[in-house]
Amino acid sequence: MSRRKKPEQGELFELPPKKDGALAYLPEDAHDLGSLAKAIHACEGCSIHENATQPVFGDGAADSRMVLVGEQPGDKEDLAGKPFVGPAGRLLDKTLEAAGIDRGTVYITNVVKHFKWTPRGKRRLHSKPSPYEIRACQPWLEAELSAIKPKVLVLMGSTAAQAVLGSGFRVTKSRGEPHISPFSEHTFATLHPAALLRIQLDYAREAAEKEFIEDFKKIAAYL
Ligand code: SF4
Repeated sequence: MSRRKKPEQGELFELPPKKDGALAYLPEDAHDLGSLAKAIHACEGCSIHENATQPVFGDGAADSRMVLVGEQPGDKEDLAGKPFVGPAGRLLDKTLEAAGIDRGTVYITNVVKHFKWTPRGKRRLHSKPSPYEIRACQPWLEAELSAIKPKVLVLMGSTAAQAVLGSGFRVTKSRGEPHISPFSEHTFATLHPAALLRIQLDYAREAAEKEFIEDFKKIAAYL
């Protein structure tokens, strides 16, 4: 079994999971995205996989200069087996285009790779992963970032930001500003696009979408 590397930054990365979590399921060749994407199908590092259709690994090229990280796959992603294919993904695509970032040059993934949900009638509602589940799944994200070594890392939403930058990190206070992490030259945090979609008032949502685009315009300057 491979061993967890000593993290240089990030409080949550310093806390080992109660069990080994995903670590026992990493392939020998953990620096190859193709090997990782195959191996994750066997992962039982936490119990989320029991009610999910399939793991949703990251999507994009190994030489991507920018990596975007969200929280976990949603209902549509769980069925498609690809990240950010639902409404939040469409908003993200629109935002990247408005910020002048080519979506085809970006690698996109999540902190947690299986969909955690609770039933509401026939619907499957997103359920926030626990701190233990987030830590259990971190070896996959660490392996993806180690394989890609992006120039720019963008953490979308508090789960992703706190997983890498520490549990005390507040996205609303430090969004769009450069931070230091062991995974990229420049690390940023911003909102998760799903959070914008939950804003009920049209004018407030449109204003939030403009701010989201401004964050990505600033980030694009570091590419
Ligand atoms: Fe493994 Fe992560 Fe899925 Fe848990 S959520 S079973 S750690 S891939």
